[in-house]
Amino acid sequence: MILTGRLRTLARVAAVLAWAAVLAALTGACTAHDSGKITIGVKFDQPGLSVKRPDGTLDGFDVAVARYVAARLGYPPDRIAWIEAPSSQREMLLRNGQVDFLVATYSITDSRLQKVDFAGPYLLAGQSLLVRADNTDITGTASLQRHKKLCSVSGSTPAQRIKDRYPGVQLQRYDTYSACVEALRNGAIDAVTTDDVILAGFAAQSPGDFKLVGERFSQELYGIGVRKGNDTLRQRINDALEEMERDGSWRAAFEDNFGPAGFAVPDPPPIRR
Ligand code: GLU
Repeated sequence: MILTGRLRTLARVAAVLAWAAVLAALTGACTAHDSGKITIGVKFDQPGLSVKRPDGTLDGFDVAVARYVAARLGYPPDRIAWIEAPSSQREMLLRNGQVDFLVATYSITDSRLQKVDFAGPYLLAGQSLLVRADNTDITGTASLQRHKKLCSVSGSTPAQRIKDRYPGVQLQRYDTYSACVEALRNGAIDAVTTDDVILAGFAAQSPGDFKLVGERFSQELYGIGVRKGNDTLRQRINDALEEMERDGSWRAAFEDNFGPAGFAVPDPPPIRR
């Protein structure tokens, strides 16, 4: 009798433990949302915009925008979970629900609007070229046609534009802009192309090594990516952006992060309601 009683107790304990394991697995599967955090996707390797420092802290204009928006949504800095969002993974991260929103030098385009929605825009940038400081033969897009090796990033609008409009260029697609800039530094490629603010951030980080050349040759309106159809979140982010622009925080963030690269503070682009 005693033995059976003990066995019964053991069986009960085992059942409770099994249930606990199932519950833990279920809650774990529900990502960060249940732990009271908001998950934001950003770049980790773009100085001036969004860079992850060796001590793990994040810094840059996109990070400042993300923090401001998160605070307005009720999430102070200690309740933000940051996820790296490389260019080619952004739509996927939103569609899978792995991030709540993206502040990741993410241009609003018609083809992306098929898959995701955007709050903003919150910044106007434009495609440009970065070369080594001692280069003299690349002065703009026309010089690229002479079999120059150009680096950009998979899944980015600048890479697509080169492919579509400058067929004579040898385009090499890397995963990140920091990898392109290293290849430029060691001579594996001749130029890097993406948005001017990104290129200027790399140039400012290594004074004397690189320079931007030519004019901006596109308009990149940066939006905050949200899941397709999440209009409540989109409008709340738009409210936060408007407030950021009104109370001077937007201007301060621009000065802090792009001042060193020599950009004057522009007017923010009008928000699309
Ligand atoms: N703004 C461009 C884009 O969204 C280039 C920058 C990037 O790749 O993040 O594709």
